[in-house]
Amino acid sequence: MKKTLLCSALFTLSVSGYSFATDAPTTTNYSDKAVKYLAQIADGSDGIGARPASSAKEIETGEWIKNKLTQVGYDVITQPFSYEKSGKTKTSNNYIVEKAGLSTDTIVLVAHYDSTGDDHGSLGATDNGAGLAAATAIAEALHAAQEIPYTVRVLFVGAEENGLNGSKHYVTEALKKGQLDNVIAMINYDTVGGGDIVYVHAAHSDYKQYQKTCEAIGLSDKTYNKETWVRDGMLAASIDRIGEEQKYVVHPGFPGYPAGETGSWSDHAPFACAGIPIAYVESTNFNINGEEGYDGYSQTENPLMWDCYDAENKTACDRKTETKWGKIWHTEFDRLDKLEQAFPGRVNKQTKNNVEVVVEYLTNNKYFKQS
Ligand SMILES: [Zn+2]
Repeated sequence: MKKTLLCSALFTLSVSGYSFATDAPTTTNYSDKAVKYLAQIADGSDGIGARPASSAKEIETGEWIKNKLTQVGYDVITQPFSYEKSGKTKTSNNYIVEKAGLSTDTIVLVAHYDSTGDDHGSLGATDNGAGLAAATAIAEALHAAQEIPYTVRVLFVGAEENGLNGSKHYVTEALKKGQLDNVIAMINYDTVGGGDIVYVHAAHSDYKQYQKTCEAIGLSDKTYNKETWVRDGMLAASIDRIGEEQKYVVHPGFPGYPAGETGSWSDHAPFACAGIPIAYVESTNFNINGEEGYDGYSQTENPLMWDCYDAENKTACDRKTETKWGKIWHTEFDRLDKLEQAFPGRVNKQTKNNVEVVVEYLTNNKYFKQS
């Protein structure tokens, strides 16, 4: 399966008990589309650019998503919601599409489409233009597939950056309506390109890290899910599809961040609270001793993104005076022009790889825990 599948016109997958065929939408066609989409979303002159939560640009991005997916034949569900921020009521929308699989067991893929840091010059190329572009292309690839083993729901959430508002709303409503009953796994795509390493994480083994988020939507440790098999399946899919050299990586352990586990700062958190096993794909560099220690907030060792980087000790030359800390997301560096200058070809390559890996994962049931 891997390289040959890229160019075969038709391939058949045998999976335990049944087989299914997928016309070859895989995948170069769709990974190339993701690169094109990334420019449409994040290019400062020709694209949409910065997309702050609840802004006109966020609405424009929502329309972009809806148009792209309607064009390939999806019925796009728009889910409007409101939330409180700094004493004000704000509004945004989630967008949802679903591709029915042979099983009604469902995997949810989530990407937020707002951005932040525009006041610093960020255009949200990595966070989360890359994830949005890849998720859109993946949804299109799945739509073109004849049969897939599991049902896949792709969810584009608004207003992530100011409090996970779209995903919290989605999970709260879906729980009320039983729409999570068939959901067996969730994949979060947030900042899936740009950093030195593309990681895949599971939820944190310590519920306390998620407690605040869970309680905010009326959930508790009774439902919290910290299973790791979605992460491990994605890791295996990445090896099968893009090979050992480029595969996803499980981050090493540091105090507060056990190996391969992540905090509650993105859209996977409400799903873990609701009892769903998650995987979170995130491009960063956990090996750097950044502003708050080894917390993965420093994304790169590239000297352009440091006042002064001490490569030997993997930290700032002077921790007292450093201002940049190797951060890309939410900064002036989160734009395609600056990223291309710093890392020629990197963001596009990572974006394409993410399409390949998730299509691999979602079109095979060998990566899933059999219940
Ligand atoms: Zn993000």
